[in-house]
Amino acid sequence: MRGTEGLDLSFEKLMVFGGVENMNRSNSGDGDCGFWGLLHGWRDAISWGHTHLSLSWCKKNMNNLVLSLIPKFTKLQVLILRQDTPQLQDDAVEKIADYCHDLQELDLSKSFRLTDRSLYALARGCPDLVKLNISGCSAFSDNALGYLTGFCRKLKILNLCGCVRAATDRALKAIGYNCNKLQSLNLGWCDRVGDEGVKSLAYGCPDLRALDLCGCVLITGGAMAVNLTLMLASAYFRHGFVYEVYPSYHESVVALANNCLHLRSLGLYYCQNITDRAMYSLAQSRVKNKPEVWASVKTRCEEEGLTNLNISQCTALTPPAVQAVCDSFPALHTCPGRHSLIISGCLNLTSVHCACSIHRASTAMPRLAH
Ligand SMILES: [Zn+2]
Repeated sequence: MRGTEGLDLSFEKLMVFGGVENMNRSNSGDGDCGFWGLLHGWRDAISWGHTHLSLSWCKKNMNNLVLSLIPKFTKLQVLILRQDTPQLQDDAVEKIADYCHDLQELDLSKSFRLTDRSLYALARGCPDLVKLNISGCSAFSDNALGYLTGFCRKLKILNLCGCVRAATDRALKAIGYNCNKLQSLNLGWCDRVGDEGVKSLAYGCPDLRALDLCGCVLITGGAMAVNLTLMLASAYFRHGFVYEVYPSYHESVVALANNCLHLRSLGLYYCQNITDRAMYSLAQSRVKNKPEVWASVKTRCEEEGLTNLNISQCTALTPPAVQAVCDSFPALHTCPGRHSLIISGCLNLTSVHCACSIHRASTAMPRLAH
């Protein structure tokens, strides 16, 4: 615990160095960075002992507040700048990169106004970032994101939801190459992400535990008919028919299942091109990987494998394929209160049930007879 001396000193710094003065020029409405707002934020900042700061309460003038405060918070490890309406501009992020070299967690979500300048600055100034949220920052390019990953190689949790320009297969290759410690990646609504990019992740990030690909409509998860046919034809002319070489071609979901043995959560919501083949591959990977799991961590066997799978709106999937996945991963449930296999919106999948639902249905019958 820091004493009141630390609190007073910090408050004095805020007063002296202009944060309050600047902010008082604007209206002190609800959520504005006026005096009361600053007091509230100051209290939060101090209670976190200078290493944690959240300015998300600030609804106006966050940019000015960051510019005036950040030079006094050089020990920051966690900085939360989530916004409802975009306020931050590149100069604020450059200031953060100039002063906060120990930063491990940064939330810049919904900063629509930021450009690549911000990512280039963070790459140079904050190499220790472990957790970065730039969801909704739609102006970032894949070049800048790739550059950042070359410097911030400790990243474990990365939220790129809605970064439509940044999250391309090219950027995912850079992530797979540079960020081998990655555990959680959100690629929601990044509709340029394809199977190639997901495969790069699968091979480069073996510790991946959660991957959200919702709305990534290019993902098929399985072999793509057109390319496969071309490959087979060329192989036939060159070497004769060697079918067994090709089933793994472009199978991004297979690569994930085979290489990311810690994968627990997979979001495929609205991936409308996901095929049955991807589901069967997932189910098979579980069977294939089981002996290794048994050998290494016997007691944790039940904890291995998917515990959350969202395939809502994946309208191309059929019940037998999804049932195969459900049967292979005992932690996936469709029963009430435990919907860890989420199939809402797939009217043709209503016949898919986890083992406990089936068990419940069969034990309910004799009771009805009494
Ligand atoms: Zn169940």
